[in-house]
Amino acid sequence: MSSLPINPPPRLLMGPGPINADPRVLRAMSAQLVGQYDPAMTSYMNETMALYREVFRTANEQTLLIDGTSRAGIEAAIVSLVAPGDRVLVPIFGRFGHLLREIAERAGAEVHVIEREWGTVFTEAEIERAIVATKPALLAVVHGDTSTTVAQPLEGLGALCEKHGVLFYTDVTASLAGNAFAADELGLDAVTAGLQKCLGGPSGSAPATFSPRAVEVIESRKSIEAGIASSADEIAASTDRRIRSNYFDLAMIFDYWGAKRLNHHTEATSMLYGARECARLLVEEGLANAVERHRLHGTAMLAGVGGLGLTVFGDLEHRMNNVVAVEIPAAVNGDAVRGELLTDFGIEIGTSFGPLHGKVWRIGTMGYNARKDAVLTTLAALEQVLRRHGAPVVGGGGVGAAYDVYQDAGAA
Ligand SMILES: *Cc1c(COP(=O)(O)O)cnc(C)c1O
Repeated sequence: MSSLPINPPPRLLMGPGPINADPRVLRAMSAQLVGQYDPAMTSYMNETMALYREVFRTANEQTLLIDGTSRAGIEAAIVSLVAPGDRVLVPIFGRFGHLLREIAERAGAEVHVIEREWGTVFTEAEIERAIVATKPALLAVVHGDTSTTVAQPLEGLGALCEKHGVLFYTDVTASLAGNAFAADELGLDAVTAGLQKCLGGPSGSAPATFSPRAVEVIESRKSIEAGIASSADEIAASTDRRIRSNYFDLAMIFDYWGAKRLNHHTEATSMLYGARECARLLVEEGLANAVERHRLHGTAMLAGVGGLGLTVFGDLEHRMNNVVAVEIPAAVNGDAVRGELLTDFGIEIGTSFGPLHGKVWRIGTMGYNARKDAVLTTLAALEQVLRRHGAPVVGGGGVGAAYDVYQDAGAA
């Protein structure tokens, strides 16, 4: 049997991620490989670390890539920070909070959760009460949860964690570069992300950063593989708090990215090229400008779906700039509408998970697709498909309302 070359249909990906990669990122990824210890490669690794310090707004030395999708970053952070029996507090307000809980449980932690209805966020006081009640070693909280489109405010939590001696971790996969964020200012000890949302790349690399305090905890759990240790003492240094994963052992990954260049895995070179280009483009644009771009196009999309007569889901005060959830009108089959948008217009929008499945669509304006033409085209197509499905829509209301936002911003 012979297979055809890969030739995907042209799509405009306006869901909650992945989105279309910036063509410059794809071009960077098609560059030829170099060896792991080629000076060109180690320079690229160092440059990638420096670029992501700017993206995360941190001075953390340990700012690097975890090979794998965003979930790999989450798993590396949690399994490396948490030893079996350690207490972890997870405030859950959407799908990805449940994921943090599960990963911490699998790492053997004693996990405590507080839960909030999807579409809402926690107050600082609620989180402090839970910290006082459970005395966790780690607070693990999602920043922007794409499943519900709202973002948990992180301001104040760093000081709380400091006060109570808790490590503070957040997953910013969905929010980084599209919403204001500054790791050091927020007092974070560990932050992980992914490329396929506002960073404008494909999934497969997880940028991450770790504070000196987190590094200390991780280094205290260090073990060295027998095959590369220089003495028996080094091997014996492994304790029962040893990190329970080899692939996600951050102590070893730090040694690979650091001056020792101690081999761990083989860095996913093409993904590094892509991740480096994502960060380079953001730094060139300016992080504040990137956030403003997401705010503008996200606001236009929000106004647009409202202009069509659709109802927006979730706490608008805490909505992320880069994704909006809209209630599926009672008269229509949500999946049929999504299917028609895809086959007739080549446009993909998302559904949601768990309690929101079949109730909302999620429309993203992120990364390379945080653009006026992408917003207007999506609204125009959605209006026509909704009309064919018998939903009451305001003719021209979507594109018109989005145009008004651009007009007011001086961008039309
Ligand atoms: C999209 C998203 C992820 C994605 O994880 P992958 O492993 O890259 O699929 C993780 N966390 C959050 C909060 C997300 O929104």
